[in-house]
Amino acid sequence: MTSCKECDCEIPIEEEMPDIGEVLVCPACGAEHEVISTDPIKLEVIEEEK
Ligand SMILES: [Zn+2]
Repeated sequence: MTSCKECDCEIPIEEEMPDIGEVLVCPACGAEHEVISTDPIKLEVIEEEK
């Protein structure tokens, strides 16, 4: 189970084992998370720099 670091909602993962570096987008708040580990799955928020 993976949850959004920004809003704590669940992020659905289509693939059973996503690739490292894959970007998953939270459906609730739109925050982008990069897969930094796959076993177990760990996500890191991609902070937008402007
Ligand atoms: Zn979110």
